[in-house]
Amino acid sequence: MKFRVLGCSGGQVPGKNLSSYLVNDSLLIDSGSVTSVLDLRAQQQIRNILITHVHLDHVMGLATMADNLFGNCKSTVHVWGIDEVIAAIKSSFFNDTVWPDFTQITGDSQPWPVMTFHSLAGEDPMPIAGLTVIMVRVNHVVPSTAFFIDDGKKTLLHVGDTGPTERVWQIARRKRNLCAVVLEASFPNRLQSHADMSRHLTPRTLAHEVEKLGRPSVPILVTHLKPQYRLEIIRELKKIKGYRLRILKEGNSLRF
Ligand SMILES: [Zn+2]
Ligand SMILES: [Zn+2]
Repeated sequence: MKFRVLGCSGGQVPGKNLSSYLVNDSLLIDSGSVTSVLDLRAQQQIRNILITHVHLDHVMGLATMADNLFGNCKSTVHVWGIDEVIAAIKSSFFNDTVWPDFTQITGDSQPWPVMTFHSLAGEDPMPIAGLTVIMVRVNHVVPSTAFFIDDGKKTLLHVGDTGPTERVWQIARRKRNLCAVVLEASFPNRLQSHADMSRHLTPRTLAHEVEKLGRPSVPILVTHLKPQYRLEIIRELKKIKGYRLRILKEGNSLRF
């Protein structure tokens, strides 16, 4: 499985991009920075998009990507999320006010909609992009999910924005072929109350989550650092011993 980091930051400044990851060149996880990183040709190769939650830093690229692909795509792009996520994108984003509803618009140059939304109940294995995807709810201020992505040999666990959570670790503990976990650390420890209120993690609560997983050999790929606290968060992460923590960067390409 190829895993490419387009954006992994919890805020946007030059060189730090919003959440967006590309699996095997054709499956996108979140769309925060997709159109500012990938050229049009690479955007045209994306056939499926998994959305963790509807916060703008995770969905904004849907707007610009749909616009770019109109008249330029060979088939519709399938956008997947739990029921509340898809409902919120429809009512608050692709609602013909904030942005045109690109799931409805067709024309001579574009005979089918550029995007099709699919809402899922969660926890059912779904065949998507030649992989098996399971969505599991996590703990954020709006409904948010983790994705288990299994290529038949290895399973990558991508956890979206979350505060302390349980269910996802219950399932992850049993996944023998778990190869890595993408997990957030948005704020430094001194802003713990802010992290708790906004349902995010600090290095302190990330360490608790990693203990719940209880798999020290599985790499933890840390993401969603707020750029204004980045160095402080990194200093605190480096003090966590006994686990394989790696802080992801824009441009990283991993193979599992
Ligand atoms: Zn969020
Ligand atoms: Zn976020």
